[in-house]
Amino acid sequence: MRVLLVEDDEPVAESLRRGLIRYGFEVEWVTTGGAALAHEGPYDVVLLDLGLPDTDGLDVCRALRERGEVPIIVISARSDETDRVVGLELGADDYVSKPFGVREVIARIRAVMRRVQPRTAASDNGPDRYGTRLTVDRKAARVRLDGEEVALAPKEYDLLAFLTEEPGALMSREQIMEAVWDANWFGPTKTLDVHVAALRRKLAGVITIEAVRGVGFRLEIDS
Ligand code: CA
Repeated sequence: MRVLLVEDDEPVAESLRRGLIRYGFEVEWVTTGGAALAHEGPYDVVLLDLGLPDTDGLDVCRALRERGEVPIIVISARSDETDRVVGLELGADDYVSKPFGVREVIARIRAVMRRVQPRTAASDNGPDRYGTRLTVDRKAARVRLDGEEVALAPKEYDLLAFLTEEPGALMSREQIMEAVWDANWFGPTKTLDVHVAALRRKLAGVITIEAVRGVGFRLEIDS
């Protein structure tokens, strides 16, 4: 998968670039909005910093969206909610705030790609295998434990599918709510705890979903 990274901050861009390459992504890195718009591609997803030296990243976002459907993930040091809302209104598919970890960005990319191209992303290959006992068939939305299908409610499946995108990665409650429930979720997250509890019960001994106080959850594969 080819990523167009638009980021003028060299240390941030370098560590992100290295991390993405380590996970198998190809990265085209540009440092200005002008260079981003001049880039001929092809690329599969854009990581777009809002604070660029030559132009406002939101204008770049709007211009990219007018051209086509390429997924855009806005990255910004601004924690301002307005930017986030405006970015999404201008057609960005998701948003990450600095500082962020590479794995968080990768999980966002995968989630966005899954939403944008549900069929192509899912038809790459067969079920995803985790450890020796668990498989997640993303095409059929089925989970099997020791070969037997596990009965999961739709949101339990969505939650498991999201958390298994990146085992070991710490995902915030907000990220999970946005990815699994609603792209513009700002409300309470009690329903998340209920679904986590159900997955822990149904997949006991196979996965651990660790709660990280004040942040979110981390899924680990046990066996
Ligand atoms: Ca910047």
